[in-house]
Order: sequence, then C-alpha cells, then structure tokens
Amino acid sequence: MNTSAEKSQTLGSAGRMPALFLGHGNPMNAITENPYRDAWLALGKTLPRPKAILCISAHWQTNGTQLCVAEHPETIHDFGGFPPQLFAQQYPAPGAPQYAESICNLLPTGTITPTLNWGLDHGAWTILQSLFPAADIPVLQLSLDTKLDFAAHFTLATQLASLREQGIMIIGSGNIVHNLSQLNFQGGTYDWAVTFDNYIKVALETNDDEALIEIVRAGDSSKLSVPTIEHYLPLLYIAAVRHASDQMRFFNETFDLGALSMRSVIYH
Ligand code: ZN
Repeated sequence: MNTSAEKSQTLGSAGRMPALFLGHGNPMNAITENPYRDAWLALGKTLPRPKAILCISAHWQTNGTQLCVAEHPETIHDFGGFPPQLFAQQYPAPGAPQYAESICNLLPTGTITPTLNWGLDHGAWTILQSLFPAADIPVLQLSLDTKLDFAAHFTLATQLASLREQGIMIIGSGNIVHNLSQLNFQGGTYDWAVTFDNYIKVALETNDDEALIEIVRAGDSSKLSVPTIEHYLPLLYIAAVRHASDQMRFFNETFDLGALSMRSVIYH
C-alpha cells in the first residue's frame, strides 16, 4: 500500500494539491454499480491526502458567495423520488472552520460570507463518498453566487488558486452537459450534447479560458447543453485554479442517458 508521501509524488506535484471537476449525474451513482463510481473509487486511491477539501457543487446557489463553516456538516438529501437507501446515506466528514478566515481573506472583504446554514449537498457527498470513503478529511463547501456572470465566477475562482499550495484540494461537482428535460432512456446520445462536450474538451486541452467563459461560441449546442448554468459553473472554478505547470487528464468521458456528460477532469 502506498504511503501518503508516495501518493503525493504520483498526483500532486510541487506540494500542490490536485484540482478536480467531477460530473456527478444521477445521485444513484453513489450507491449503484456503475463505471462512474468505479472511476471515482479508483481515482481516490491515487490522490494525495489533503489537509481539507473545498467543494463547489452545482446544488448550492445563493445571493452572494457563502462558505459553509460548520464543524460537523450535515449530509443533505436534496432530492426527491429516490429509494430509502439513498436517503439513508451519511457522509460524516468533519468541517474545517479553521480554514475559513484564510479562504475569505483571499478575496476582497465581504465577498465570501461564512455560514452555518448548509452542510454537504448531494453534489458534494455523492462523489466524496467514493473519493474519500473514510470521511476523515475536513470539507468546506463554497456556494455559487446567483448574481455573478461566467466571467465574474471565473475571476473569483482564480483568487482561490493558492489554496492548492496550502494543502487544500479544490473539487467542483456538476455536469458539462446537463439537460434533464432531454434524457434519452432509449439509448444514444444527442448530436448537440456531443458537439458541446467536445467544444469544452478542446477548450480545456488548449487552456482557452475565453471559450469556457463565452459558451455561446458553441452555438445552439450550448443552449441545449447548458439550459441552466448551475451544473456548468463548477467547471469554471476548477479551470480557474489551474497552474501553468499542471498536467491535465480527463476521465469518465461518456454520456449518461444521452443528455448528461459525465466528462471529468483532474489538474495535478
Ligand atoms: Zn446535480
């Protein structure tokens, strides 16, 4: 078994924690046998052990950016119509209020408001459960400010990049293509979904931040793939904390039900 130091050499160069964006998709992915979860479990075994995790999930949108600083973040079951087994899931990771001040201080005063009024929503815990099953690494969640446009989200996120050098792993959780009104249970993936997913793939491969921010450049495929912005935004946060010397790798590069891109990316 690898020691933490050996793992750090594998993923997490120069003392810098990786930054990851994970497509989370259906909450049932957390408790069923599926290739996405298999990849999360496998990845988790290669990750260095961070001092804390800062998670940006599609499922926490607020007026102004908030940071959950609870000592014991509640596992939030923010969904309906799923079996009791999913509602029974708990991810009892500790919080990390000790890092709140240093995170808030990275941005102009008042930009980030600490709060106790959240916990870990399913965008966070359904993936953390596989990445870090022991639930022994402190987690903070950062909300998405509904007042900001894409460029402002990106600018805010760039100011968080130095956290990676302080031992904090930054994880975004959403989906690049997320259109629940177009789910295809017959099999097959929509052309517009493939087009947009590929547009983002190329933008990430070429570090084209403008293309990530101005997704209208992808034409009609952006409207169908990002009908609402919350599942896309966490990707911007991860692209924004990229370091020039990072390596980038994709995983889970497939679609679920035709209209959910599970494409995920790690910078390390
Ligand atoms: Zn979601």
